[in-house]
Amino acid sequence: MATWLADHLRGEFEAVKGRGGPGDENALIDERRAWERELAAGGWTCIGWAEEHGGRGASLAQQVIFHEEYARARGPGRVGHIGETLLGPTLIAFGSQAQQRRFLPPIVAGEELWCQGYSEPNAGSDLANVQTRARLEGGEWVIDGQKVWTSWAEWSDWCFVLCRTDASARKHAGLSYLLVPMRQPGVSVRPIRQITGTSEFSETFFDGARTDAANIVGAPGDGWKVANGTLAFERGTSTLGQNLLFQTELAEILQAARRNGRARDPVIRQRLADAWIGLEIMRYNALRILSTAAGAELPPAALITKLYWATWHRRLGKLAMDVLGPESQIGDALPYALSGLQRLFLFTRADTIYAGSNQIQRNLIAERALGLPREPRPA
Ligand SMILES: Cc1cc2nc3c(=O)[nH]c(=O)nc-3n(C[C@H](O)[C@H](O)[C@H](O)COP(=O)(O)OP(=O)(O)OC[C@H]3O[C@@H](n4cnc5c(N)ncnc54)[C@H](O)[C@@H]3O)c2cc1C
Repeated sequence: MATWLADHLRGEFEAVKGRGGPGDENALIDERRAWERELAAGGWTCIGWAEEHGGRGASLAQQVIFHEEYARARGPGRVGHIGETLLGPTLIAFGSQAQQRRFLPPIVAGEELWCQGYSEPNAGSDLANVQTRARLEGGEWVIDGQKVWTSWAEWSDWCFVLCRTDASARKHAGLSYLLVPMRQPGVSVRPIRQITGTSEFSETFFDGARTDAANIVGAPGDGWKVANGTLAFERGTSTLGQNLLFQTELAEILQAARRNGRARDPVIRQRLADAWIGLEIMRYNALRILSTAAGAELPPAALITKLYWATWHRRLGKLAMDVLGPESQIGDALPYALSGLQRLFLFTRADTIYAGSNQIQRNLIAERALGLPREPRPA
């Protein structure tokens, strides 16, 4: 893997090295799409999927090694990550064979990009409150409603959309999980400018958007079960390999602290040491999870992963700014060019929100790992 990356991440791909991370998502999209296809040609996409689905059947430990080598080689932010880590595993678990045959190969080949249409203005943590509606008409689902915070909507070919197909059913029961093509007149995407100055996510409007009747994962009304399957992938295995990236960020902050003398400040020293300890805890925890995981099934202890890394990472962003001191307030250039550490600080504010906020993670730990009574639901 390391040799393959060294041989291929150069020449025309030299420019994408280290690009496309948080706050830099819009960078070099076409070049990174070409890189995704290059990775695919080498057999390095979807390596955790079974061979029958176009993967390599790599174990969780092998996937972590892959992510580490990829980060070490400064591989660019992956444009196909939502298809590879969220939709693909969901289709493998819940999709029909026809859906697997239609949708998995273009993900493996790096040819079709996906986005996740869950959140709406009134449905975030309370996801079952989704109001986007879909009805069957002439052999197609017709979809009306609005999604928000849709990462990668601007560049995606398809969206998996959680919508209400039975208005008379109880909240969780009337939902369905549809696969909807993005490039059609009924779909419009309005990018949202984020505090990083870039637009990684968008508002997505469905006005009579259409998709084939067969593009439903599970049966009508199964949407809640399937959507939670996707969320389990998002909060579980998809982030196990990010330790090396975190190490690189901490190393950059340490370097800045040595350069400007803040490394001698006793409080900053303690916080730097604390960050390093947190990183080691994450590493050991990942190893513990990997050694107790049965296949792709994660043990209940894995539920702490998202809460821990997100909180650690947000704190790291703040530490970076405190290390830089007054320098942190100055942009690289007008009007809004930011340094890597400034982008780190701004983007990490979102870590404790997406894929389930910290409060929601704590509820999950309480209910699913510790077996405490369920949070009271409004009547
Ligand atoms: C960078 C980024 C990318 C995203 N990408 C996508 C995407 O691609 N697709 C998509 O569908 N969504 C995406 N989201 C949306 C994300 O899933 C939601 O922001 C998240 O689920 C929280 O929902 P909300 O923003 O509506 O906040 P709310 O649900 O309104 O929460 C507001 C506050 O109330 C707290 N709260 C809510 N309910 C409870 C409770 N029961 N107990 C305790 N506290 C509670 C929350 O923790 C939070 O602090 C993204 C968000 C971000 C920041």
